[in-house]
Amino acid sequence: MVIVAKYDMNILLIQHTIHQLTYIFLFFPLSVSVLHPIANLQIVNINFLAIDFDQTMIDTHTGGRWKDSVAELAQHMRPIFLSLIPMAHQRNMRIAICTFSGQTQHIREVLEISYPKNIAESIIIRGNDNTWTYVGNGMKMGKQEHMASAAEELMSKPKLGVTDITKSTTLLIDDDPRNIKKSLKDGTRAVWFNPKEADRLLDDILLLK
Ligand SMILES: [Mg+2]
Repeated sequence: MVIVAKYDMNILLIQHTIHQLTYIFLFFPLSVSVLHPIANLQIVNINFLAIDFDQTMIDTHTGGRWKDSVAELAQHMRPIFLSLIPMAHQRNMRIAICTFSGQTQHIREVLEISYPKNIAESIIIRGNDNTWTYVGNGMKMGKQEHMASAAEELMSKPKLGVTDITKSTTLLIDDDPRNIKKSLKDGTRAVWFNPKEADRLLDDILLLK
């Protein structure tokens, strides 16, 4: 068993290194293409990105029941988020994954495989895993309570650098139009993510005023 575990660890380390190199060499041009959208997010005072997982951050829907390896799940990461998130992080925006999936440990490991350690660790995950409850007065439908709870955690840790998150400084990115509608109705900024045209997200972010 120990030998198997060590072997798995080596495979994971190799996969991690490949991912890091891919990130640096393959996605550098994409990093340039996110510069303007990120600048616009700063202009419209967004300091908190709440990103859906299934069909948004990744290009498949796990239904919260992913049975293959985490390394395979990480292969489904969309390139656009491999460049957008590090750039947003660099500009002092904070990020949370807001999902109805309960497989939050899988998501945590996908983040660890996909991003440098400091960025992966800074991302908060709110999923339906029974590890948190939102007791505030805000709307609890859709992703609203996930976002509110993540924002509470961020603001309770001033060393993370963002202490003033409000609905108007939050942007939800989600492929489910129902979550977008609830978010907008509740006064939280939101853009619908088209799973078939991932790069349109950058245009939509540029349109935010
Ligand atoms: Mg989704």
